[in-house]
Parts: sequence; C-alpha cells; structure tokens
Amino acid sequence: MIEFQTQPQSLEIFQQMGKMEHEQLLFCNDKATGLKAIIAIHNTVLGPAMGGTRMWNYASEEDAIKDVLRLSRGMTFKSAIAGLNIGGGKAVIIGDARTQKNEALLRRFGQFVNNLSGKFWTAEDVNMTSQDMEYIRMETPYVTGISEGLGGSGDPSPLTAYGVYMGMKSAANKVYGSDSLKGKKIMVQGAGNVGSNLIDLLVKEKANVSVSDIYEDKIENITKKHAKIKVVKPDDVYDADMDIYSPCALGGTINDDSIRSMKCKIIAGGANNQLEDEVAHANKLNALEILFVPDFLINSGGIMNVYYEKEGNYNKEKVMAQTEKIYDICTSVLDHAKASKISTNEAALQLAMKRIEAIGKLKLTH
Ligand code: NAD
Repeated sequence: MIEFQTQPQSLEIFQQMGKMEHEQLLFCNDKATGLKAIIAIHNTVLGPAMGGTRMWNYASEEDAIKDVLRLSRGMTFKSAIAGLNIGGGKAVIIGDARTQKNEALLRRFGQFVNNLSGKFWTAEDVNMTSQDMEYIRMETPYVTGISEGLGGSGDPSPLTAYGVYMGMKSAANKVYGSDSLKGKKIMVQGAGNVGSNLIDLLVKEKANVSVSDIYEDKIENITKKHAKIKVVKPDDVYDADMDIYSPCALGGTINDDSIRSMKCKIIAGGANNQLEDEVAHANKLNALEILFVPDFLINSGGIMNVYYEKEGNYNKEKVMAQTEKIYDICTSVLDHAKASKISTNEAALQLAMKRIEAIGKLKLTH
C-alpha cells in the first residue's frame, strides 16, 4: 500500500517535502506589488512541471504551503497516467483575488515563473481568468490556457467534461456490462463549467440526470437548457436515489458522512481531491463495492488540452481523440484494481508511478 498522508498534519517543510517527494519549493515575495506566492515543483521526471496558479485568501501561510504541496503532487500523477510528457507542479498566490489581484502583481508573479526558465509551466486555476494569464504571459512564455482569440486553447472545461463522460462510460461497462448511460440515474453535483458541459453529454445520451448547485442562477441556466432534469437540494445529494454520483463541485465530498448515505454503484466526477482521506475512503468504497473512478485520471482532459497548447501544435480534434483514451485507461486501472485486490485509487497511483519509474530509467542512459 502507498503510504501517504493526504493532508499533512505538521509543517516541518523539508519533512513534508521529503514525505511527498517534492523537488523544489519556491517562495516569491515582492514588497512593491504585495505579491506573496509559492511555486511547488513536485516531479520533473517526465518533463517540465505543469499546473495551474490559484489565488486564495488562505487562513495561514501553513495552509497555503499544504495546499500547494498536495495539489502539485496530484498533478504529477494526473499527467503521468494520462500519458503526457510533463511533470507535476502548482502555484498559489496568497491573497484576496477580489481586492488584491491586479496587473502589476500578476506580472511580478510572471517574472518569478520566468526565472525558472521553463522548469514550471502554469495555467488558470481557482480565481484566475484568461485575462490574468495574459498579464502573466507579458513576462514569461511559460503559460498555457490562453484564450482562443489569442491563439491559445481556451477554456479546458468541455474537454475535462468529455473525459469524465468517457471514464463514466468505462465504469458503467464494468458494473452493468454495457457502457450505455441511457436511463441511468446520474446525480451531477455542481453545475459549473465542468458539470454543465457534462450534463449536455449525459442528456444527449438520454441518461436520467439530476443536478444540484448552491447557486440558483447556475440551476436556472442548466434547467433552461434541459427542462427535464431534476433539481436536488445540496443537502439531499448523498441520500438521493442514484446509480452514479458525479462530484463536479469541490473536493473532499467523499467522507465518512457522505459514504454512510450513498447507495450508488459508481462515483465518477470532475472535482479534484474527491476523497477526504485518500487511503481510508478509497478502501471504504472498495469494501462497499462502490466503483470509484480516480479523480486525477477521469478529470485529465483539461490538462491534455493545455499540454497540446504548450507543445505548440494545438488541434481540437487531436485533443478530443486523446481525451477519449481516458475510457481505455480507466478500464486498465479498474482491471488492475480488481486483479490486485486494491482500491481503484491505489491502482491508478501505482500505474502512474510505474510509468514515472520506467521513463526515469530511460533518461539515465542519456
Ligand atoms: P466551477 O466553479 O465552474 O463550478 C463548480 C460549481 O460547483 C459551481 O457552480 C458552484 O456553485 C458549485 N458548488 C460548490 N459547492 C457546491 C455544493 N456543496 N453543492 C453543489 N454545488 C456546489 O468549477 P469547474 O471549473 O466546473 O470545476 C469543478 C471541479 O472540477 C473543481 O473541483 C475543479 O478543481 C475540477 N477540475 C476542473 C477542471 C476544468 O477544466 N475546469 C479540470 C480539472 C478539474
């Protein structure tokens, strides 16, 4: 079993970096703009580290460090299992995006990214927009997720949703013997960028879709488009009658409380870090015979999108074809988990690590 604490408890920085096997942590400070940012480079065996930049008003510096360490590690496995030649990284800017984010601060951050000379590539994440990415790009070329109008790949969410749809079909094939989602009761939690694109695909396939969101306008947008979908109150999601639960909102929704209520057969959604505890909750789902499709695998369509933009030969059809492969990768992971009698999450981690180890050995011969 892979020993790892999802949420590091103490903060001895080198100890945590050692435990989670990070390569580098860069603290960026600038008095003039007020910038305080952290760039974490987890693993660059497969290629330069890549991961979004998020801006968040963390309660403490310790929380920011924990977040960037955890998120950058996740990126390593996401890219590895998706077959991409990039490593894992992530950046966090500490502060309130509504009041502290401005051109100067973002451009100063861009200079720090540039100083890494391409060892770290970034993209949009929570509280960042395409416009923000364009400010960062004024100082560094190591940015992706630029708007389509400027020659970039644009919003990655439709690709992320398409990958989730593929992974869900792969899981349905395992559980029901057919990958058709027609008539399946699917609960989509979160009608944001990923959730609403996923709902479009599910409705097209005539699935029996329910949706939940904490904001009325999100519900209105989606029900205006798809009048037949059922709306479920946020507190009633886990008790709902569903075959498939699709978390497309925030992380940590799979925990002791929610698992107690869940009667679904499959969990397949786009949110990052769905398991509150990576080991304990994965094992619990396994014991209950609820098939969990690992989040870092099923939501890798978005990173595929920005990866091809980074490579400079972006082509939507090619990325769609690549995203479709999530179906087969999921099948391999689910088969490996069953054969090895381990959780699906651990199976996905093992396959990702196996690829990193194998490619790492290749590089030794250079
Ligand atoms: P988003 O902000 O557009 O959508 C999230 C939605 O969830 C919002 O509408 C929000 O109101 C809703 N929500 C929040 N808490 C909720 C709750 N308790 N119950 C129901 N709804 C709730 O974000 P997004 O881009 O759609 O991303 C969704 C998830 O997928 C995130 O966890 C994100 O990290 C992950 N993800 C997104 C991408 C991408 O391409 N956008 C790629 C990989 C992973």
